[in-house]
Amino acid sequence: MKKILIVVIAVSLFGCKNPENESNRLKVVTTTTMITDLVKNIGGNLIDVEGLMGAGVDPHLYKASEGDVSKLYQANIIIYNGLHLEGKLVEVFEKMESQEKIQVPLAEALDKSNLIGSEYFASSFDPHVWFDISYFKQFAERVAEVLAENDPTNAEFYIKNKETYLQKLEALETEVKATIETLPKEKRILVTAHDAFNYFGKAYDFEVVGLQGLSTATEAGVQDVQRLSQFIIEKDVKAIFIESSVPRRTIEALQAAVLSKGHEVKIGGSLYSDALGDPDTVEGTYLGMFRYNVNTIVNELK
Ligand SMILES: [Zn+2]
Repeated sequence: MKKILIVVIAVSLFGCKNPENESNRLKVVTTTTMITDLVKNIGGNLIDVEGLMGAGVDPHLYKASEGDVSKLYQANIIIYNGLHLEGKLVEVFEKMESQEKIQVPLAEALDKSNLIGSEYFASSFDPHVWFDISYFKQFAERVAEVLAENDPTNAEFYIKNKETYLQKLEALETEVKATIETLPKEKRILVTAHDAFNYFGKAYDFEVVGLQGLSTATEAGVQDVQRLSQFIIEKDVKAIFIESSVPRRTIEALQAAVLSKGHEVKIGGSLYSDALGDPDTVEGTYLGMFRYNVNTIVNELK
């Protein structure tokens, strides 16, 4: 009898460790499309990833649906940006704490002394850190570490995927810097709907001005529009930019204000700020999004 029991225990233990066993696959829930793309690159086909937010979704305003809550309950790991980017999801995540889920706010692992301060967020920091590729590399390191810790059987696979992805990020960094070099320094002024590009500006030497402040939760006022239109005229800025996750009317109001002062500024197209493009398109990946943004900015400001 004892022998049978031991065999049963041994079989069930072996069963738990079997990577083929579907129920043992890590279930990871992610928030923004940037983070979903990253986790899929590192987890590959060995984990299940559910991204809560889709293309064009504004994370500052995003609220969890009932479907999201059930996905969160089923997850082993929740990976998100943090620094209060997902302002309305924080409460939901806090409720999950008693569920013993592993919560990974990626940006909170970055060295705080390198972050850009902001009074607009409860975290006191600007959360749009993914626009510095070197920070996104650190995100990749952290994701691989978390997956490897929680699924040691496949640790090597995750680490290998991370190395491959880091090489792509490095190539992207080199390419982006070379493209930006073609734009004279005095033309590197980026005017957009909200302040998503401060880290981009710091890393790649642009002056960045957002109409709406750091979070889209506050609307731009008439004064902001007047102040910024004056700035555009003084600096002779050629183009201003819409963002995929912010309504275009804010930037159109700014263009109208510049026109009313007898000057002209064009709308240089739409940039991806807080969300990637549609899935199954090149801009639906972090690498494609970054390349698209930089090419658009440089071509329009030339
Ligand atoms: Zn934002």
